[in-house]
Formats: sequence, C-alpha cells, structure tokens
Amino acid sequence: MLKNPVRYIKGVGEKRAFVLSKLGIQTAQDLLYHFPRRWEDRRHFKKIRELVDGEKAAILGRVLDAESTVTRKGLVIVKAVIDDVSGVAYLTWFNQPYMKKRFKALRGKRIVAYGTVKKDRFGVEIENPEWEEVEEEEGKESLNLGRIVPIYPLTEGISQLQMRKIISNALDTLAPTIVDIIPPWIREKRKLLPLSQALREIHFPTSVQSLAQARRRLVYEEFFLLQLILALRQKEYKEEKGRSLEFDVFGELEKVLPFTLTNAQRKVIEEVANDMKKGHPMNRLIQGDVGSGKTIVAVAAILIAVRCGYQCALMAPTEILAEQHFIVLSNLLFPLGVKVSLLVGGMTQKEKQMTKRLIAEGETDLVIGTHALLEEDVEFKNLGLVIIDEQHRFGVMQRATLRQKGLNPEVLVMTATPIPRTLALTVYGDLDISIIDELPPGRRPVKTYWVPKSKRKWAYAFVREEIKKGRQAYAVCPLIEESEKLQAEAAEKLASDLARLLPDVRIGLLHGQMRPKEKEQIMREFREKKIDLLVSTPVIEVGIDVPNATVMVIEDADRFGLAQLHQLRGRVGRGEEQSYCILIATPRSEEAKRRLQVMTETNDGFRIAEEDLAIRGPGEFFGTRQHGLPDLKLANILKDVKILEEAREDALELVAQDPHLRKPEHRLLAKEIKERFGDAIEMLDIG
Ligand code: ADP
Ligand code: MG
Repeated sequence: MLKNPVRYIKGVGEKRAFVLSKLGIQTAQDLLYHFPRRWEDRRHFKKIRELVDGEKAAILGRVLDAESTVTRKGLVIVKAVIDDVSGVAYLTWFNQPYMKKRFKALRGKRIVAYGTVKKDRFGVEIENPEWEEVEEEEGKESLNLGRIVPIYPLTEGISQLQMRKIISNALDTLAPTIVDIIPPWIREKRKLLPLSQALREIHFPTSVQSLAQARRRLVYEEFFLLQLILALRQKEYKEEKGRSLEFDVFGELEKVLPFTLTNAQRKVIEEVANDMKKGHPMNRLIQGDVGSGKTIVAVAAILIAVRCGYQCALMAPTEILAEQHFIVLSNLLFPLGVKVSLLVGGMTQKEKQMTKRLIAEGETDLVIGTHALLEEDVEFKNLGLVIIDEQHRFGVMQRATLRQKGLNPEVLVMTATPIPRTLALTVYGDLDISIIDELPPGRRPVKTYWVPKSKRKWAYAFVREEIKKGRQAYAVCPLIEESEKLQAEAAEKLASDLARLLPDVRIGLLHGQMRPKEKEQIMREFREKKIDLLVSTPVIEVGIDVPNATVMVIEDADRFGLAQLHQLRGRVGRGEEQSYCILIATPRSEEAKRRLQVMTETNDGFRIAEEDLAIRGPGEFFGTRQHGLPDLKLANILKDVKILEEAREDALELVAQDPHLRKPEHRLLAKEIKERFGDAIEMLDIG
C-alpha cells in the first residue's frame, strides 16, 4: 500500500499526482514523508476587541453581511463583516468578486478565520484570511483551524488546504498498514513513538509535546538509517581480507624531504602505516586545512605500498592539480626509484594508450590522474593503494569505482573541507578519520582585505609593489557558472585589462579551455618565476602550490561561496613571507557581505566551515545526495546532535549483533533500506 502510486490516494488523481511529482512525491509513502515546513498554533481564538495590529490570529464569529466595491483602477474589493461578543471585524479579498455571494449565503452562520490583523482607526481587518465554516456536526474536526496546523512546502497547482486534505486522507487509509522498521529493542531503549503515531502527529499534532516527540522519532529514523548504512559499509570493509604492508617509511622520507615533518604529519603518517600493516584494507580520511601538508601523507602511503610491491593510484579533481602532483611527486620519488606516470583526459589518444599499457604491465608504480583513471580500460597489474585528493569533489560511487580496480586495495582520501565532528560522522561515518591540526612552521596568517570595485586600481597598485619585491601573484576572474567558454573569455578579458594596467608586469593566463600542454607550460613558467602575475579562472581553487606567490586578488569575490574563497586564499600563505588576499567586491546581498566579512576576520578553516554552515544551512553545505547517501529532511545536523549520536551508537550495536541484517527481527529493515536507498548501497550484502 505504501509503495502504491500517490494518485490512488483519495483526493489526488491523475492531475494532482503530476503536481505532486514536482515535489518529489511519487508514492503514498512519499506523501506521508512530505513533512510540514513549520506549524502554526491556531488553537486559541481571540476576541475581536483584543486583536493587535500586525499579529497573526484566529477568530470565531458570525457572518453579518458582505459588500463589494470597485476602485477607479478596476480592482474589486469584497468585504465581509463578522462579529463576536466583543466587536466587529472585516474580512477582505481582492479581485475575488464571487466571495460576496458566498458570504451573503453564509449570513447568520459561524465561521473561523485566520490571518494577519490590520488594526487602525477605521477598524479591524484581516486581508485574504484562511477561513471555513464551523462544522456543527459533532466529532468532525477541522484540518485548518482550531488546532496546530501544518504549513507545507508547496508548488504551483496545490494549496495548503488541499495538501492538508490529501495528507489527512492518506493517514486515514494507510495508518493501519504502516509497519515500524526500527527494531523493537531500539524503540524501547530510546522511548520512540510508534511510526504510525509519529507520522500522524508530525502532520496534525494534538499538542506541542506530542509534536516534539513525533519529530524526535522521525529525526531518529533519518539518522539511524544513514548511520546504519555507514556502519554496514564500514563493517564490510573491515571483514574484507586485505594485505599486510609494512615498511619503515620515516627513514626513507627523511632522505628526500627538504623539511622536517610537523608533529601532526608524523602522527597521521603513523596512523596510516598502522592501518596498512593490518590484515584488512585501510579506509581512512585525512582532514587538514589548506596548506597543512596532506600531500606528504600521501607520499608516505605510496612509499609503503611500492616498497611492498604494489601499484598506487592518486586521483585529483582537476587536470592542473593532477599535473602539479605529478611534477612534485616525480621530483620527490624519482631519487627513490619510484616510477610515476600521468593520466588525464586532455592527453592525446596515443599518450593515454601508452600510459595505460605501462599501468597494465606493472611498468609504473604510481599513476596520477583525474576522472580519466575511472575509465573502464584502465587496468592495473596489482593495485594496492588508492588515494583520492580533495575528496569532497568526488562522490561515493567514484571512490568505489577506483577501489574496484584493485583487489580490496588500501584507501586513503584527503580533504581540506574541515567539518565539525558531528558532520564528519554523518558523512564519513564509514571511514576512520585522521586530522592534521597543525600548519608547517613559519606560516603567517594571510592578511585579507575587502575593497569596493571603485578601489580596484589601488588593489593592483599594491600587487605591483609586491611583484617589485620579487613576489608573485594570482588574479582570479569573476565566477561564471553558465559555461566554460564564457568563463574562459572572462579570464582573457581580465588578462588584457591587466596588461594595460600593469605594462611592466609579466602576465600569464590559465583557463579550462586551454590544452593540457599549454596549461602545463604556463604552470611551469609560473613556478620558475618567469611569470609574475597569473590570471586565472577559479580552476586554481584546489591544491595548487607555489610558495613564492604571496598575493591573491579575487575579482567579484561576492560571487563565490565561503568554502571556495577559503580554498582560493589557500593558494597563498604557503611560504614564510607575509601573504595577502584582496577581495574586490561591491556586494548587494547581506549574505554576500557577511561572507566577505568572515573572510577578513579569520583564516581558520574550521571557523569558516561553521560560518558557511550557519549561512547556507546543512542541506546545501553538505548535500548528502552528492555523497550517494539518503537525504535528511527533518533532521538538523547542527541542532540534533544528541539524537545523531544515539542513532550512531544503536546502528553500531545492531551491526555488531547482526552484520548482514539476517535475523528475523531485522529482515524488514534490510528490505526497507534496499528499497529506499538502492543506489547508495549497491555494494552492501544484507538481508
Ligand atoms: P595541502 O594540505 O593543502 O594539500 P600541501 O601538501 O600542498 O598542502 O603542502 C603545502 C606546502 O607546504 C607545500 O609547499 C609543502 O611542500 C609544504 N610543506 C608540507 N609539509 C611541510 C613541513 N613539515 N614543513 C615545511 N613545509 C611543508
Ligand atoms: Mg592538497
């Protein structure tokens, strides 16, 4: 019944089913899980005389009469007069002439009305109220008035009243068929409402307390299913047979590193080495702010795997970043006899073919690349380690695809998106987490300025000063999301603009439409200080590392999100010189102003992530869907932390007891998970 198409619910039908599909509602179950956006307490009627201007209120009165007038501009205004023991009020509608007749017919009848009160010396009025006749019939309760009323997210073609009606119909017919998927022992332990009751109360609460209980029950369910999937996945990884890789990596690293490791790097490398030694595959996330030195951790893992006779793959989200990793890692690893190759989409067919052959024949130890690594004809001889850089740019499925190119390889993922612990649990609950919580010594916070567009010349005068001192700079052109081509044009325009403004400065240009060879050439010249100012599209956002570059100018900075600005700024402040970031923007929205303000106030990635969350809300900040995980509709990751932790604890306990959900009391749960989250859990062996 729950899985039946929604059109069979009373009051829906073919046409309305189409409207509902725009809200993502396909089945009867989807309808029951279409939760209110908020609730309004309309239980208490106010006396007309006590109404206050501007408040939202419900009144109960008798219809006296209705009149209509037409203004000079042709607007039809209908006013109905109602009274109660305390006074008289008007209900007003615009351009709905038929209301006059309706209300004339209601004379002497009692109605309830709800809306925003307008009170002035002419009297009391409610414009466009929600209203209905008071049913004198006994026991027939209103869905819309005299109660706590749900307010739903809607789309064109359906009203609040209609939505309330069909959801109420759905509850009436389906409630007896709803089975609770949360195992009884958990329901008891956490004192959760039965599901059918929770669903009824979330839509049509009988009290504020029961609404809170219903919400808790449903939030718990969202977290629980998510945590269960993650726990099952983690369990599955841990059960897999891996290999035991052991090698004294510190000794070898010291031979080639131009610096000493920070304590944080040392600690994380130890954790990685420990994982690799164990008999089952590593699945570890390395979290560290931009510039914290995550690459070295990757190098350590690579050395261990290669010395034990395995191949490694390192995947990065952009070609430029892959190429940079290729250059840096080749330099570092060449003296140690490690053979490195590059595989990116922009290489010629012939080059790619050759690299693929080297990979297949085991002639290369480490291949660095982009999504190109995921292509089907990329086959390894014996892939033992998979590393994914800037993991937030990839989905769970991509991680899985690369993994499958080896036989249960070790997996290391790296991200610079610092997220609060609770969030990490939510999204990375299937991974072990290491944090690099320390920057290399001598780093100074980047000084960040926000200048209005009118002071743009000043900003570039400052850039010229820094370049005169021997530093280098980036200028990032405005973000254009519509097309790569327009984006490239914006960069070209900025470059020619700056060439005129700064004739004595050597300017280079980098954008996504250039061929890989050209990009490589430009990056090399920039690294070799043959270019002073690199004009670029936002492609340099991730990972690029040129320590002598100390100035970052971002044009129209208000178009970027906080996380992106922080990543961009992370391109400077990577050496020992003082670095600067100049945000050029004359923003219109308050939100954009706040983002820029935050950037000038802090360099701390954790604080920025938190602000970002506060500004954007967790849904957008961390679209779970992007990670191939179920959506959270009701749950608020920031506020419902306690419920999240309970759900996680229970999910872990459940998986420890019954790792494949095969006990009779868990069958239903396994079935439901498969049905609801098919795509996300393709690889799980349950039920
Ligand atoms: P991210 O964490 O952003 O990927 P990288 O690994 O690119 O950071 O490192 C940033 C810069 O810091 C690089 O130039 C790297 O050589 C340098 N670096 C890394 N570790 C150290 C260290 N322990 N001491 C000094 N410099 C380091
Ligand atoms: Mg990096």
